[in-house]
Amino acid sequence: MAFNVHILTLFPEMFPGPLGQSLAGKALERGDWAYTATNIRDFADGVHKSVDDTPYGGGAGMVMRADIVEKALLSIDNPGRKIYLSPRGKPLKQALVKELSQAPGLTLLCGRYEGVDQRVLDAHGFEEISIGDYVLSGGEPAAMILMDACIRLLPGVMGNDDTPDNESFGSATGGLLEYPHYTRPAEWNAADGKTYGVPDVLTSGDHAKIEQWRKKQSEELTKQRRPDLLKNA
Ligand code: SAM
Repeated sequence: MAFNVHILTLFPEMFPGPLGQSLAGKALERGDWAYTATNIRDFADGVHKSVDDTPYGGGAGMVMRADIVEKALLSIDNPGRKIYLSPRGKPLKQALVKELSQAPGLTLLCGRYEGVDQRVLDAHGFEEISIGDYVLSGGEPAAMILMDACIRLLPGVMGNDDTPDNESFGSATGGLLEYPHYTRPAEWNAADGKTYGVPDVLTSGDHAKIEQWRKKQSEELTKQRRPDLLKNA
């Protein structure tokens, strides 16, 4: 069964965007995943097809109307898990990505302006998910990030050799950051005039030592850059 994503947006033409390329693009062609992008504006009335209005209580900006968003939502058969991309949401972490990639279907609501009238979120049980502590101008790039992270976990998408559990935040990495990578040439003459080699252990052929070195690097990097991850490791 394909991974099905329904997107509610004011900019359906943004999709598949980058998800039409590379691994995700090939997986889309194969039918490993599918999407529909519904234009919320198609459900607005009047000549101007306005989807937003001023906020009750005053203040800057405009708010997307609950009645129009609801009509767009109800046009979707089998919406599955309903998600509103929002800076106020729970943070998107690898464990949540894994869970979402196994969902039978997802509906992603992309906000614009100041966001969406709270009542439609409450009435339809939308979960709010944030891709990070910063504010985007719209939910579409956030939806693409969530989708990309899920699609690469679908069976067969990354190829046989790659196991996502061995990567940063994966269960085999103990939830830590991944070790550094090196490839040919073994001696690289960089533009700064210096020659950069590769750690000897990686060319030693001693797999146990290589594993040990990688584990240590992973722990050191995590300690330096993301000590918060060590708490759950
Ligand atoms: N007024 C909102 C606030 O302060 O929380 C920000 C609205 S933002 C300009 C417009 C839309 O972009 C939001 O409705 C949401 O869909 C999306 N968005 C912005 N930042 C996001 C983030 N960090 N994660 C997920 N979606 C985000």
